[in-house]
This record gives sequence, C-alpha cells and structure tokens, in this order.
Amino acid sequence: MITRSVASVDSLTWQEQLAGSIRDPKELLHLLELDSLEPDALELGTHGTESLTKSLLGQALSASADFQLRVPMAYLQRIKKGDLNDPLLLQVLPLEEELTGAPGYTADPLGEQAANPIPGLIHKYHGRVLLIVSPNCAINCRYCFRRHFSYQNNKPGRNEWQQALDYIATDHSITEVIYSGGDPLAASDRQLLWLTEQIAQINHVKRLRVHTRLPIVIPDRITDHCLQWLTSTDLLTTLVIHSNHPNELDHHVGHALKKLSNAGVTLLNQTVLLSGINDSVESLQALSEKLFQLGVLPYYIHQLDKVKGAAHFEVPDQRAKQLITKLMAQLPGYLVPKLVREIPDHPNKVPLL
Ligand SMILES: *Cc1c(COP(=O)(O)O)cnc(C)c1O
Ligand code: SF4
Repeated sequence: MITRSVASVDSLTWQEQLAGSIRDPKELLHLLELDSLEPDALELGTHGTESLTKSLLGQALSASADFQLRVPMAYLQRIKKGDLNDPLLLQVLPLEEELTGAPGYTADPLGEQAANPIPGLIHKYHGRVLLIVSPNCAINCRYCFRRHFSYQNNKPGRNEWQQALDYIATDHSITEVIYSGGDPLAASDRQLLWLTEQIAQINHVKRLRVHTRLPIVIPDRITDHCLQWLTSTDLLTTLVIHSNHPNELDHHVGHALKKLSNAGVTLLNQTVLLSGINDSVESLQALSEKLFQLGVLPYYIHQLDKVKGAAHFEVPDQRAKQLITKLMAQLPGYLVPKLVREIPDHPNKVPLL
C-alpha cells in the first residue's frame, strides 16, 4: 500500500508536492506511526472521550467523507511521529467530533455568499475586495471557515475574471485587492502574473495583498517566478501568511520567507486561536518571536468562525482575552497580534480587546 518515504519531497517541484499530498487516512496514520497505537494510548488524546469510541482510522474515514483529508509531505515532516497531541497533526486529522453538530455552528458563518456580487469576488469591507483566485488549498485545515464554501460557483475562467476586473475598475473606492481562496498560491505563476498585470493597470488600486498558507505548508512554492510577479509591479505588495504554531516554522519556511522579505514584500501573519493547539501563552509567545526572527510581524489572531464541524476547536472569548492580556505583559506591542472576530454585516473585523 505505502511506498513513499518521508524524505522524498526534496527533489520534487511544488506542483508535484501539491499533487502528491496525502489524502488517504490510512496512509497518514501509517506514516506517522499512529496505526499501531494500543487502544489505551488513545485515551491520552486531549480531544475528549467521546471520540474514543471508534478507532482513529474509523473516525478519520467518517469525518473526511464530508471534508477531505489533505496534507502535503512537506508539512507532514514537521509532525512528531506517534504523538496524537501534536499541534500540527491536530490541525489536519479528521476526528469524530466534527460530526457532532453544535448550536450556532453553520455552513456559511460569515454570510459570504451574500457579499459575493460576482463569481470569485467578495466585497465586504470599504476599499478592499477579495478575489477567490484559486478554489484549492494545499492542506485541509479542519477548522477552516470555508470548509463548506461553494467553490463550484466561484471558479472563474478568463471571462469571469474580466467581470471582476470591470467591477474593480468601476468602483473608485477600491484601493486594495486581496488574493484569497482556497489558497491563491495554488494557482500557477502564469495566471497570477496575468491577473496582477490587469490589476496594476487600474489606477485607483494601490495595494495588492496575498493571503496564503502555502509558504508554510509547501515552502518550495516561493519560486523565482512567484517573486517575479509579486515584485515586478508598482502595487505595494503584502503577503499575509497563516501560521498557527511555532513548530510550523522550520528552516525551509524560514528560507522561503527570507526570499520574500529580501524582495521587498511586507510580511504579516494571521493565526486562528485553536483549543488544544495554540491556546497557551507559551506557544503564542514562541510563535510571535519566531515569526519576527523570520521577518514577519503578527497581524491578527482570529477567534474561530463558527463553522459546522469545528466547535471542538473553540476557545471561549473570556479565555482568549486572558491569553492575549498575558501575552501583552510578556512581549513588545508589535509582537502581539490583534484579537479579532469576524461578524457578518460588520464593516470590519471586530477587536475583542
Ligand atoms: C478579512 C477580510 C478582508 C481584509 O480585512 P483587513 O482588516 O483589511 O485585513 C477583506 N475582505 C474580506 C471579505 C475579509 O474577510
Ligand atoms: S489553508 Fe486556509 S482556506 Fe485552506 S483549508 Fe486551511 S484555513 Fe482553510
């Protein structure tokens, strides 16, 4: 069944790594040596006792039927073998808790379908539009607020892109375009170059922002071609990466980020606060410090969006505020991310502190 070895990513292109990501729960558990855990070992999991009624594989299979398992090898290499509580593993491992409904947790928690005037374009905030540049992600994060998003209706081709470009060109209040997804860097550099050139021709757009988790997940994604379209434009470019835990930031990621900062791209990070993964002052402090070492400033720390299947990741607001208050007492102000929650119909992300 399993032929690949964990060391095998080094010679692969990012596209090959993307295509070769693990989707089979059985393979994931095998590679991480979790298929031979004694039933007793499962009791050590922090994720509640209910989940222990079924085997890990059974859970992973049923929870991934709804939202597929997806982990590239480059990310898997950073997960500790045999450790069910690994903070990176818990972000990607489908568990039975996802299948339990929770009050207030819905399929479209942000009401994004309503702010979606043109396929692939979301205009919710003043001056900024978000483009769903690619429906695909390199990794499927179990807490993802877009896990039920209708990407089928948001998969623009060139003609639809023209509609989105016309929309932006017509509205002179738009000064910033945000590439989002899915993960925008799952698109090819050729497509991204084309789109960026079109946007750069619209005079009132001054800034381009790319929200992406790919530099964390598959750092080889930051190719010379990628740097080229990011920097060969008069738009001011910012890349907002998405890292939740210091263990994600290994030397490969550091190398990719260095290339970006050397090229003059502003680097920010956003984090989702996740129970059992990063809800401690120690891990948030280490994350901020490591990010700064790599040339990245913390931007937002998000309270979880209430998407169906993610309730077990919730950190109550009061505890979230306590954590950030403690973080403020430990770190310089510029290393403390803003604690925010997204509220539908609100003109901005709402600060909780
Ligand atoms: C988060 C978000 C933005 C950007 O908000 P900032 O506060 O500028 O980071 C823009 N559009 C949408 C739809 C968003 O969700
Ligand atoms: S990379 Fe971002 S959009 Fe993709 S699954 Fe993870 S959180 Fe969701």
